Amino acid sequence: MASVVIIGGGPAGLMAAEAAVTAGATVELYDAMPSVGRKFLLAGKGGLNLSHSEPMESFLARYGTRCALIEPAIRSFPPAAVRAWAHELGVETFVGTSGRIFPIDLKAAPLLRAWLHRLRQAGVRFCVRHRWRGWDEHGRLRFITSDGAFSVQADAVVLALGGGSWPHLGSDAAWIPILAEQSVPIIPLEPANCGFDVQWSQYFRTKFAGHPVKTVAGTVKTVDGIMIRRTGEFVISANGVEGGLIYMISSAARDVITTEGTATLWLDLTPDRPLKQLGQDLSQPRGKRTVATHLKRYAGITGVKAGLLREVVSNDMPADPIRLAAAIKSLPLTLVAPRPLEEAISTAGGVSFDALDKRLMLRSFPGVFSAGEMLDWEAPTGGYLLTGCLATGRLAGRAAAEWADDHCSRRL
Ligand SMILES: Cc1cc2nc3c(=O)[nH]c(=O)nc-3n(C[C@H](O)[C@H](O)[C@H](O)COP(=O)(O)OP(=O)(O)OC[C@H]3O[C@@H](n4cnc5c(N)ncnc54)[C@H](O)[C@@H]3O)c2cc1C
Repeated sequence: MASVVIIGGGPAGLMAAEAAVTAGATVELYDAMPSVGRKFLLAGKGGLNLSHSEPMESFLARYGTRCALIEPAIRSFPPAAVRAWAHELGVETFVGTSGRIFPIDLKAAPLLRAWLHRLRQAGVRFCVRHRWRGWDEHGRLRFITSDGAFSVQADAVVLALGGGSWPHLGSDAAWIPILAEQSVPIIPLEPANCGFDVQWSQYFRTKFAGHPVKTVAGTVKTVDGIMIRRTGEFVISANGVEGGLIYMISSAARDVITTEGTATLWLDLTPDRPLKQLGQDLSQPRGKRTVATHLKRYAGITGVKAGLLREVVSNDMPADPIRLAAAIKSLPLTLVAPRPLEEAISTAGGVSFDALDKRLMLRSFPGVFSAGEMLDWEAPTGGYLLTGCLATGRLAGRAAAEWADDHCSRRL
């Protein structure tokens, strides 16, 4: 029987194992950690967002410049298939008001438990605490365990080793030098869906770190000069800004910082009130009221929003109501650097699609396939990451089983 080895037990590797065993291969899955699916479990802590229900064209567009490259995988395992797959595992899903797809209980653990049970029943053998270190002189896979090094022969291999964020959960990107040494083209890893450093004043940092900034809009100008405006919430951190709205503009802001040194995020603190209306509201006579009271009464600007306004325009608060309204609607925040990759939700960069054929097999390594976040694609949060990992894992796992079967029968 053809043998397939999967390395990496995240969602991409587990799905590759499922596809390969379903296609009739003998499957062994190796992972460096004491248990598999650690990042998947972490994803469940904030509400496991499995996929998104928007129309396919919009869904695919979320993968940006890599859209056409990941499209075949997504089309063969679209969001509806993700829901059906969860359903088969006994986990019902629902579509939230934003169109995002979640398990009913929002958790990852029941889904992972049911999935691992099904994989074991199907015959997948799990080998944890096995760190892959490349190939030995005979071309066999080399692993390190607490008992020392040993090598494994397989008809086909799927590498699903993850990106470089949250490395303590297993995906530490140690595969990069191994593949680079074999001349596999790799695009340098960068943080995606990440926070940014802002040079807050000591006063602002002490007073507002940890405060959520609710329902604002943020606009960033991309390196191509396109203005991206998104609405949402974010959190002031000791170093800068974090959270949903920031993640939505993060890839654009990161690329601007790379080319220009810093990026400007224009905040609209009153996204529901047009500039003209706000100007009129703030033109009400102030009388003896303080600016703070006036802002609170006529613009609803209080707390952290008032703090942000003062922090950015300093104490030079425009007296003219029209200029004040303009500042509130377009407050320029300077983002100086993305937070480190280790803190990011996901990773951009990775194994270049140039290195892969349509089956996700490494062109320079016949029989070695790759899937998941270690490939060079990125997407915003919203279920696009997990769907991308599951879909590429499935494509690679199935293709690996076919390759293994073909080469195994040729040997016989
Ligand atoms: C806080 C947080 C919340 C998230 N929430 C969501 C969400 O709600 N929805 C969503 O779509 N995405 C979410 N994500 C992203 C999602 O979890 C990842 O995109 C996904 O887990 C990547 O899957 P993967 O299988 O490619 O890699 P990983 O899940 O990173 O798995 C890689 C595996 O490979 C193993 N490995 C690595 N190197 C070796 C080696 N040398 N030898 C052996 N094994 C090795 C690791 O131990 C690990 O088990 C979230 C991420 C984070 C950090």
